[in-house]
Amino acid sequence: MIYHQLALNVPLYPLLTYAYPTTLPAGTRVAVRFRNRLVAAIVWESDIQPEIDLSKIRPIENILSDGWQLPADWRALLSFTARYYHYPLGQAVMAALPKGLRQPKAVPLPKQEHIYSLNALGRIQPAPPARYHKQNALWQRLLAAPATLHQLKTIHTQASQYLKQWQQQNWIEASHIPACGSIPTSLHQLNQQQQQASAEVQTKCGQFAPFLLYGITGSGKTEVYFDIMANIMQQGKQVLFLLPEINLTPQLMQRVRQRFPHTVTTVLHSQTAAGQRTTNYLQAALGQAALVIGTRLAIFTPMPNLGLIVVDEEHDYSFKQESELRYQARDLAVWRARQAACPVVLGSATPSLESWYKTRHGDYQLLQLSERAHSNAQLPQIHLLDIRRLPLDNGISDIIKQKLQTNVARGGLSMVYLNRRGFAPALFCDACGHTFGCPNCSAKLVLHQHAGQLRCHHCDFHQPIPPSCPECGNQDLTAVGQGTQRIEEYLQHLLPSARILRVDRDSTAHRQDWSEIYHTIMRKEVDVLVGTQMLAKGHDFPHLNLVVVLNADNSLYSADFRAPERLFAELMQVSGRAGRADCTGEVWVQTRQPEHKVYQALAAQNYVTFATAELAERQELGMPPFSYMAAIRADAHTMHEAQQLLRQVQQGIEQQHALPANVNVFGPVPMLMARLAGYERAQVFLESKNRRDLHHSISLWQNWLLHLEKSNPHTRWLIDVDPLEM
Ligand code: ADP
Ligand code: ZN
Repeated sequence: MIYHQLALNVPLYPLLTYAYPTTLPAGTRVAVRFRNRLVAAIVWESDIQPEIDLSKIRPIENILSDGWQLPADWRALLSFTARYYHYPLGQAVMAALPKGLRQPKAVPLPKQEHIYSLNALGRIQPAPPARYHKQNALWQRLLAAPATLHQLKTIHTQASQYLKQWQQQNWIEASHIPACGSIPTSLHQLNQQQQQASAEVQTKCGQFAPFLLYGITGSGKTEVYFDIMANIMQQGKQVLFLLPEINLTPQLMQRVRQRFPHTVTTVLHSQTAAGQRTTNYLQAALGQAALVIGTRLAIFTPMPNLGLIVVDEEHDYSFKQESELRYQARDLAVWRARQAACPVVLGSATPSLESWYKTRHGDYQLLQLSERAHSNAQLPQIHLLDIRRLPLDNGISDIIKQKLQTNVARGGLSMVYLNRRGFAPALFCDACGHTFGCPNCSAKLVLHQHAGQLRCHHCDFHQPIPPSCPECGNQDLTAVGQGTQRIEEYLQHLLPSARILRVDRDSTAHRQDWSEIYHTIMRKEVDVLVGTQMLAKGHDFPHLNLVVVLNADNSLYSADFRAPERLFAELMQVSGRAGRADCTGEVWVQTRQPEHKVYQALAAQNYVTFATAELAERQELGMPPFSYMAAIRADAHTMHEAQQLLRQVQQGIEQQHALPANVNVFGPVPMLMARLAGYERAQVFLESKNRRDLHHSISLWQNWLLHLEKSNPHTRWLIDVDPLEM
């Protein structure tokens, strides 16, 4: 018997050992029994020396792969991912496969499509008589250009029968569809900055080179990606294009189809039907598709000829998976590009501070597009409206009311943007805008009304709720909370004749929903859009000319140190929606803190100013990207139980004196969203300037948690490396 280490979907860190009469190539899919169920597994290593009792080792039941294995670079990617995110390898491997390959069933490999053309002999034959008009149409189609069976069947359902007949006559030749196909030239002549950006990347073809393409909204980043992609694919290489959400960006898919009509393109996202996803995955893995477009999960697609990775809207939070295997696809993209020795282009109008920081240190090369590509597209005017002394009616000031009424009367399209990101309740002074921060951390204090306290969720600091504002003495301190529902109802009352459309997660749960909404807007059947973060994503509504932001300040009271960064990005994106094509846009932001750096940079439409100031603050406080972080979380029915487990581990580690000196531990503290789905959630932050030491401490925590989990059966735990959730 030969012994094999297998990756299978079980929550155990070590791989499991199974036996088979012969050696099997690594990457082979097999079926095995685990706890009496037949499950799929991937051979990770063959011919090993088992460390367990041989009589306990069970056999591999059958082999599922026929001739194709998950390749070595894919396995290296998964090994790295599991190690870096401290997640069981078997589960990581299974999470990276489409459903079809996770099941203990053989899957036929997709056949490469053929393309049929008339050869020289065929071309001199007379066409079938016109009275057989379908047959004749087939012939004419082939005379015009080579075609696939799929295309020919739309002309004549019996196309394959005639193809066979003509092939026997030796008039027709069949060949495999080239993955790339011919790429027509672009409609746009790239401007000078675009050309330069594209050329810089192309000179690094065939070597690892990370780029940050920083270009304001509408500056033509997409055209730059396309230009580079065309060039790389024409060299016979594959391109991986990652974007935040496919369903929300039908325009982008349309542009891809227009630009690369003959390129075999595979789309991978969570809403692709399971069977189709497996086929698409395999097409990419077999090199049949030149272009792979997908959301974060597409980062795990095997691609034998990978020549370029593009991550569009690289700052977007959706690249981070927030359950189970908590990976960051943008970071893995850079890792993969290094592995494949190819360029990677991260693009954004508001890059993440992590990526921006890397351009400052020469880790990433910065490419800039500083002007809108369309000659007549102007930047919107952004106005900050100080509402400290203005009366508000349902959260809306008179000036904003008038703006909306006038625009509706004029027949313009308005957008009312509500900031509804989950944030913890906070306290602020209505008169001067003062907020309460922790004296130990950069975090804002969270209001605990019942306990009568303000608490820091990053360290243990807490204080009683103050009776008045320490800044100006005002005794009316206000708690900020939700209340956005009311605004929506009020708008209908304020604008009785307007056609108002609400856009949020609920109204666009399905693909059709969004595309319906999109077309309704484009047909100009909407006067006012009311929506949340979703509206900030890259849509183009050429006639949008007024954007109103009502309650953005909420974010400034957040205890999450990334809240200003996120708010700035969102508002820049929302503003970028206004005044595209040939109409000038106006943006109005209601705020009680117009002097805040987020708003000042927004009004100046200057990302660089903002990033510079924000990075300086992060540096002073030793926050990422100046340090590395991990969160260890525990969920239980009570906060006490959740914190208890974390404390036990902490004490265990302290007694061993095992923690590296340059690793700081904060907590345990409740998470900002302390209660979720019936669980109370607590966490500890590990923080260090040294990545290696940080990972060593995570492993210590992990070992203790594994050791203690049996005596805490009601508490679940997880590890989140480079966390975005606070
Ligand atoms: P971004 O991705 O940076 O937001 P896009 O690539 O979507 O920008 O370009 C914005 C608009 O400008 C699109 O309508 C696009 O077709 C157009 N555009 C881009 N590059 C050019 C160019 N060089 N000449 C003319 N129009 C362009
Ligand atoms: Zn604190």
